Amino acid sequence: MTVLLPSGETVPALGMGTWMMAEDPARRAGEIAALRTGLDLGLTLVDTAEMYGSGASEELVGEAVAGRRDEVFLVSKVLPSNATAAGTVKACEASLRRLGTDRLDLYLLHWRGGVPFAETLEGFAALVAAGKIRHWGVSNLDLDDMRELTASSGGCQTNQILYNLSRRGPEHDLLPWQASAGMPVMAYSPVEQGRLLGSPVLAAVAARHDATPAQVALAWVLRLPHVNAIPKAGSPEHVRENARALELRLTDQDLADLDDAFPPPAGPEPLEML
Ligand code: NAP
Repeated sequence: MTVLLPSGETVPALGMGTWMMAEDPARRAGEIAALRTGLDLGLTLVDTAEMYGSGASEELVGEAVAGRRDEVFLVSKVLPSNATAAGTVKACEASLRRLGTDRLDLYLLHWRGGVPFAETLEGFAALVAAGKIRHWGVSNLDLDDMRELTASSGGCQTNQILYNLSRRGPEHDLLPWQASAGMPVMAYSPVEQGRLLGSPVLAAVAARHDATPAQVALAWVLRLPHVNAIPKAGSPEHVRENARALELRLTDQDLADLDDAFPPPAGPEPLEML
């Protein structure tokens, strides 16, 4: 299952997040094994950010993908406070060093801060020209910001946003707008950082398919053809479980039951952020 980027490339619909990795030395080996297991299973879209552990997550990702860099579609993010033209270049170079690579596949503005888009885009353009990033995109931008961004510049590959069963606000306008613009959405926190997994409705739907609540939550996000999901899993077991979500097809009855428990938005809702 893949998602088509505006560049014409496809990326795996299901990838892997890495926030909160590299925080506990006792979990490090399991986290690296988790990422390598994911690569073995084709979850080669890997998301990190300079913010995560102040670079420690990028270093862990670098260790996990060492020797396998070419298999990976590597995504990182610049903090808004670094996102001036020169600051974006400098931040990216530091990320590349921590990741042990010469290029990112996708570099995102983590959220909109005080720096005008034009300055950040100048930094992205310089990085593309230097071969240090292949593509750029954004994160946590609501519809007005997306309209403003895309009115002034083409080339944005994705908007990475909070989207899961308990955060359906973007279905009202942002998701349809991005679909019509041919720009995918990368859904972060797709299992709501684990908080969704105790839901009895998810358990009931999962039971019909001999599946698990995590698989149902991920299959639900992935039901839309222009949406990626990037769950973070800190063990090979969780990664294997999540990968099997790709085989799960939710029925109309499943979707109706999930709609009852997690209603779609009745009107516009501001984009939420974690
Ligand atoms: P998430 O992926 O919804 O949830 C991660 C939590 O779910 C972890 O505690 C993990 O536990 C648990 N989990 C995952 N798979 C599981 C399974 N099969 N069974 C049981 N528990 C499972 O939340 P997230 O980490 O916030 O979001 C995912 C990624 O999106 C992040 O890692 C980051 O890369 C990105 N993100 C981006 C932004 C942004 O502003 N752009 C914000 C938040 C997140 P274990 O570790 O024990 O497996």
